[in-house]
Amino acid sequence: MKIKAIKTFPINIGFGSQLVIKIETDAGIVGWGASGLSGRELAVIGAIDHFRPIIIGKNPLQIGAIWQDLYRGQYFEGGRVLTAAISAIDIALHDIKGKFLEVPVYELLGGKQRNYVDCFASLRFTSEEELIHRAQVLIKEGWKVLRLAPAEYEENSTMVFEPRESIAKISKWVTKLREVIGPDPVVGIDYHHRLSAPETYSFLSKMPKGTLDFIEEPIRDETPEAYESLRKMVDIPFAIGEEFASKWQFLPYIERGITQFARVDVCNVGGITEAMKVAAMAEAHYIDLMPHNPLGPICTAASIHLAAACPNVAWLEEINTPAEQPGTNDKTFYPMQPRLEGSKYIISDEPGLGVDFNEALAASKTFVPVETPRLKKRDGSYTNW
Ligand SMILES: [Mg+2]
Repeated sequence: MKIKAIKTFPINIGFGSQLVIKIETDAGIVGWGASGLSGRELAVIGAIDHFRPIIIGKNPLQIGAIWQDLYRGQYFEGGRVLTAAISAIDIALHDIKGKFLEVPVYELLGGKQRNYVDCFASLRFTSEEELIHRAQVLIKEGWKVLRLAPAEYEENSTMVFEPRESIAKISKWVTKLREVIGPDPVVGIDYHHRLSAPETYSFLSKMPKGTLDFIEEPIRDETPEAYESLRKMVDIPFAIGEEFASKWQFLPYIERGITQFARVDVCNVGGITEAMKVAAMAEAHYIDLMPHNPLGPICTAASIHLAAACPNVAWLEEINTPAEQPGTNDKTFYPMQPRLEGSKYIISDEPGLGVDFNEALAASKTFVPVETPRLKKRDGSYTNW
């Protein structure tokens, strides 16, 4: 069997964009993959254009060798664009190999270690009322883990974000939430690296102990030493890693005990091949995976197979819940996709990933790149979205 073609499908879907790829073989088996570099799909397509002549004609079953070739077969290796392209290719090759051997992808990774994959619900909110209402909807529907995503800045039309004003508000709202829902649900918060280390300290100090079970990405992650100093200031577990584009980026965070959950993104880190290595590094440090899953059904399916085959998994991210329907799993684009029952994903026994994509629909639409919001402080200076 040889790789015959690689096609790319950037699409606008739900509130965002996705880049789906298809690898075709001369045996008629096709594989689907996805890149995680949201907003920079055109750059990833460019990287795939570079990789196409390198892998056409190769045996798609030699996934590890192809990974090494794509990562190391250039002087300027690595980086998010290249690794997002490698991720998409690697996931599609796993889909092909599963279909060729007529086994689900988890069988290629050592087999199933769990009967289902438990999820946390992403909970976006712009007010205290919305936070409490959405949390109650989710808890009533059986969700036990809530990951809060504050978006209170959207209340002002100018998209001003003042960190000190945000932490004063959000700490009050989250404290109130905990009073209302009691001690049982697991509650974390994703500050989307909008804070500095001292702001993170202030935020966490404003809430009674036991309010939060983890905090995700309070600050930017380019400098592990900055996180290391923050680690010494606060006592809430960290969940870091969704932007990491290799096992090497995870290494200091895992080895130095900086993060307590690994937010591995299978569509950014280097595919299933690289995610399994991150999982093994994390396992050796008793760190559980909390896979990042903000895209669509291909990312979800790949993450489910990864989670099925790893012993150290906390929860998989889910953004389409009874409280919010961003529409990233639109069935007209994905006629076959993973099945969510309550807060659990059923592990598909279909050969390969268990996902199908409507290529004709994607080809019939014009793609418009989606930019993330630009947040400014009141003085006009730039801050992170
Ligand atoms: Mg996040």
